[in-house]
Amino acid sequence: MPNLTQTEANYLKRIYVNSFEKNWRVTSVSLAEELGVKAPSVVDMLKKLERKGLIIRIRWSEVRLTDEGIKVVRKLLYNHRILELYFSKVLGMDADESCREASKIDALIGDEVIIRLCDLLGRPDRCPHGFPIYEVS
Ligand SMILES: [Zn+2]
Repeated sequence: MPNLTQTEANYLKRIYVNSFEKNWRVTSVSLAEELGVKAPSVVDMLKKLERKGLIIRIRWSEVRLTDEGIKVVRKLLYNHRILELYFSKVLGMDADESCREASKIDALIGDEVIIRLCDLLGRPDRCPHGFPIYEVS
């Protein structure tokens, strides 16, 4: 995975989930509204992600993930959803709290930890929200 800040990772996950799991059109405006952030800071972040080759910005401020971006997000979502399951199943946290806590560390945590958690959880295929946990190579 490329070096990402946790905030960059959170943007990427949001773009992926909205585009591919909810089938929404993702724009800088929709992201600003959803994240409760001012439009110029969203645009700054999108420019960073574009320079890293993970997204492209097309007409009418629409945002799309590149193939590399999709690969990176699937790994992030894998980490995210394993952590969510661990927090909810093992630590007894509710789904929203698990999600919030996972979003603080899913881009930073080591692969070895995730693999162990995944094994501990019996290699699950759905997160507490019912979204798929993708196979990553
Ligand atoms: Zn979540």
